[in-house]
Amino acid sequence: MATARTKSTKSPSPTKAPSATVPAKPILPVPSEAPRAATVALLRGVKDVLPSEQTYWSHVRTLVETIAQQYGFSRIDTPVLEDPSLFRRALGSSADVIARELYAFTDAEDGAVALRPEGTAGVARAYIEHGMANQPQPIKLWYLGPMFRFDRPQAGRLRQFHQFGLEIFGELHPATDAELLTIGANCFRRLGIPITVQVNSVGCRVCRPPYLEELEGYWKAHRTELCEECKTRMGSNPLSCFSCRSEGCRALHDSAPQLVDWLCEECKQHFIRVLEYLDELEIPYALAPFLVRGFEYYTKTVFEFLPVSPDGTPAGASPLALAAGGRYDTLVESLGGRPTPATGLAFGLDRIMYKMREAVSDGRLAAPVAPTPTIYLAQLGDQAKRKAMRLYEELLAQQFTVASHFAKDALKAQLEYATSLNTRLTLILGQKEVIDGTIIIREMSSGIQEIIAYEKIVPEIRKRLEQEAVRESRTEVLAPATADGADGQPEPERGSRWRRRPLPEEDPEAEDPPDESAPEEEEKPDAAEEVEE
Ligand code: AMP
Repeated sequence: MATARTKSTKSPSPTKAPSATVPAKPILPVPSEAPRAATVALLRGVKDVLPSEQTYWSHVRTLVETIAQQYGFSRIDTPVLEDPSLFRRALGSSADVIARELYAFTDAEDGAVALRPEGTAGVARAYIEHGMANQPQPIKLWYLGPMFRFDRPQAGRLRQFHQFGLEIFGELHPATDAELLTIGANCFRRLGIPITVQVNSVGCRVCRPPYLEELEGYWKAHRTELCEECKTRMGSNPLSCFSCRSEGCRALHDSAPQLVDWLCEECKQHFIRVLEYLDELEIPYALAPFLVRGFEYYTKTVFEFLPVSPDGTPAGASPLALAAGGRYDTLVESLGGRPTPATGLAFGLDRIMYKMREAVSDGRLAAPVAPTPTIYLAQLGDQAKRKAMRLYEELLAQQFTVASHFAKDALKAQLEYATSLNTRLTLILGQKEVIDGTIIIREMSSGIQEIIAYEKIVPEIRKRLEQEAVRESRTEVLAPATADGADGQPEPERGSRWRRRPLPEEDPEAEDPPDESAPEEEEKPDAAEEVEE
């Protein structure tokens, strides 16, 4: 209940604290004579995610989590550390990620350990180990976390990066592949990142071996034109030569035998059905006959989401994929489980974040904004500070989002901070309010403030936030000309105790940090009286 209403535009300057109770300003440490220790730098290929980037990360995390839930996926978290043999068996020893990029080491107990280079193998292990094959299929799982590859650090290639992944176990139907492609396309549409989808089929255990023989023969016939790396890997993993970016090797790709021409009838029909679903769902795609993906576990459909320019033209000569995946019908079996068809998709979140920041700086995308606290709690004087510290905890316990700076003494600085945070309400406690058992509540959008009984503060905040929510929903429904007042601000409700008034001018005297050398001041009068002066 309001006990008084401010009448003046002057700041409700709650009383200053007596100087004796004010703690001294923090003193900076005296520089020591000893030389400063060398700083420890970040390792190559890894990144700090700074507070300024967190809004992007939380925006993307929230969006992908929402989408995963909408499509019926359940979250799974598997460890970052796994037995290296899991990845060797799943991805194949000749895959670049295993042969050159796996972080594998021996721990203090001589145990073989690897940092996971991708998410699918661990999730498949968990699927087998926790008997998920015995539950009704399909099992739809999603994960999000860091992955590690000893890659050559460069733009878009990190040694620790983050993936959001979706896996569907126990479903062979081509509609499942199309479902994942649709989810991927939806994610990018909702993120505002233009992409193109590239699709191919890498066949199965039946049709791939004769094709690999043919391909190896082709590389051998062009041995002299291949780079040194491809010369060594064409025997063990002839498909991996398609990932080579060197000019000489790339010139050979176009005339190499294409896997689609070697597909068995089952793989061919599966691929045709996937493409038909994509046409039906109006997901634009391009056939990519040399898209093979690097891992041995892939069968049938494989795909990549590549960034494009806003006008749909390719983004650079060989853009890095933002997401990729495909079907892996033999993986569960190869890890000791029963034969289980499966398909998955993994998003590279660091690359997505980079694309978002690029779009924001080009003005194509609005920067995601951090949620701001609803309430700011300001205090003036030591007694008020103590009471405010208790109130702060009470408000948090009541689920309000509250900001405060108890280390700050000047009211002006606190109110400026409240304004910069864009809080809806500011609560102000001064010495007099403490004595009177009151508190000032200020509506930040209008600058109107009232003094209310301290014990009423929680219901009062709730009521005002609810009123504001109602006003906002009405404003959304009504045309702005009807909803707004002459100055473009929403009219206060009829009978409301609120009156629109400009933010009161602060009394600079009231905000100066207390001068410890000055004699103790008399406590100032009631903040409301001061405002009424
Ligand atoms: P993959 O597990 O290789 O199929 O990769 C899936 C996605 O993870 C890729 O499309 C990239 O967006 C991302 N990714 C893979 N490797 C890296 C890396 N070294 N640095 C950053 N992102 C990566």
